[in-house]
Amino acid sequence: MIRNDNTYLLMIEPESESVPIQDVWTRRAMQLLFMLKIGKRYRGMHTCSCGATSEPFDLITPQGRITHSLVAHYIECHRDDVTQAELVKLYAEIMNCSRQHALENMNTPQS
Ligand SMILES: [Zn+2]
Repeated sequence: MIRNDNTYLLMIEPESESVPIQDVWTRRAMQLLFMLKIGKRYRGMHTCSCGATSEPFDLITPQGRITHSLVAHYIECHRDDVTQAELVKLYAEIMNCSRQHALENMNTPQS
């Protein structure tokens, strides 16, 4: 199911496959995975065109977007299918996490 409005993040169905790209986008997408909360559960899982499978549930980003466990896989292995609009949403999520992390560190008493 492809959903590209602002409620969703990387709900795409990649058709091309590239050499895995390990760059700042991939690292940050992997970091974002640790910030996601489990959303709606399903009986089955989504299978990528390359055979990779997702977890059988949605994941919710810190900004409330719905995504899935293949988010970093798509950035790493299917970059050509990721639109600029999806990268902008990913960037917004990453910046939000960085800002939250910075604020939490500011509020932590230094010993
Ligand atoms: Zn894949």
